[in-house]
Amino acid sequence: MIYFDNAATTKVDADVLKAYIDVCQNYYANPSSPHIFAKKTENLFLRAKRQIIKSLGLSDNYKLIMTSGATEANNLAIVGYVLAHLNKGNRIICTRYEHSSVLSTFEYLKTEYGIMVDYLDVDQNGHINFDQLNELMNEKTILVSIMAVNNEIGSINDINIIGKIIHDNSKAAFHCDASQSIGKVDLNYQNCDLITISSHKIYGLKGCGGLIIKNNIIIRPLAIGGGQEDGLRSGTNDVASTVAFAVAIKKVCQNYKSNFQHVLQLFNYLFIYLSKNTDLYEINSCINQTPYILNFSLKNKKASVVTEALSMNGVMVSTSSACSSKKEAYSQSVKALGKSTQIYQNTIRVSFSKDNTLEEVKQFIDILSKVMKEIKS
Ligand code: PMP
Repeated sequence: MIYFDNAATTKVDADVLKAYIDVCQNYYANPSSPHIFAKKTENLFLRAKRQIIKSLGLSDNYKLIMTSGATEANNLAIVGYVLAHLNKGNRIICTRYEHSSVLSTFEYLKTEYGIMVDYLDVDQNGHINFDQLNELMNEKTILVSIMAVNNEIGSINDINIIGKIIHDNSKAAFHCDASQSIGKVDLNYQNCDLITISSHKIYGLKGCGGLIIKNNIIIRPLAIGGGQEDGLRSGTNDVASTVAFAVAIKKVCQNYKSNFQHVLQLFNYLFIYLSKNTDLYEINSCINQTPYILNFSLKNKKASVVTEALSMNGVMVSTSSACSSKKEAYSQSVKALGKSTQIYQNTIRVSFSKDNTLEEVKQFIDILSKVMKEIKS
């Protein structure tokens, strides 16, 4: 099998799995219990959380609330922040190409709480316009949510500058979904107030993510109960997944440069092939984007048919994002770039991991060209 669907999820790293099993078997106490074994387990949990924050280059000014993944973290950031600040304003801003867990949460707040949503357009390179951001923000704006790396096309937003613009020109808090950027793109998160992270995108376990919150930021909890995680996310702490996440993030951050160079080589090889065959493919990539994602469209065939044929030939890729490909017949992000219907309805997302090889890319190209010849339309 050639697995090129790493933006959807990754294989768990062997060291990460080892750390997970070690905690499951040796530190299985509930950190909230009163005994010494629980205290040891709690220390492990707190150390892992600090390690995760540190790996992102952040200081003690931040805390981390563990969640079941980025979806829950996005919900907690957005609903939690907005409900805590309803007396300050009723407008929120996000881009048109956020992940569905942001877009649908914004829709929910619109329908259930009458919150007004302002959408930021993106240009053909997948970047927002800073002037439009400035124009949309006003005294009623309480929250702006902009992802660091887009999960379908791989464009990068300069969240450091964006955070500065938001803080210099408004009282709004800045939430950033960094699920696709951590360990893969070198970004400065210091101007973000709320940062969403996910473990299974970086060789950690599924069902584990978190929301990093600046200490002065107030949010309301969504899960109410025993008061774990500073009362912001009740429920018994998943110490093993958190420790495993800390190992995963430390490894990807330490190996960032070599992984990046390796994946860039794969990206460039495929990019050159696709750009030599412009009668068949249109590349939906952006200037200075992440090499981990290469999105292209089929000019005269159906992407659903081609991806199915690729899959039958042992190649796993996505049409759009895994979270939307089952319900949407098109890529929301490619549509946001202003592309034609044929292009945004027939996208293929190839997403690499540090473990993919150039040999796999070459095989993929052979299989893709074979499949393209076999399929009539
Ligand atoms: N945000 C982005 C940008 C993503 O790519 C994903 C995963 N598709 C999510 C949020 C949701 O992540 P999780 O599976 O951890 O809930």
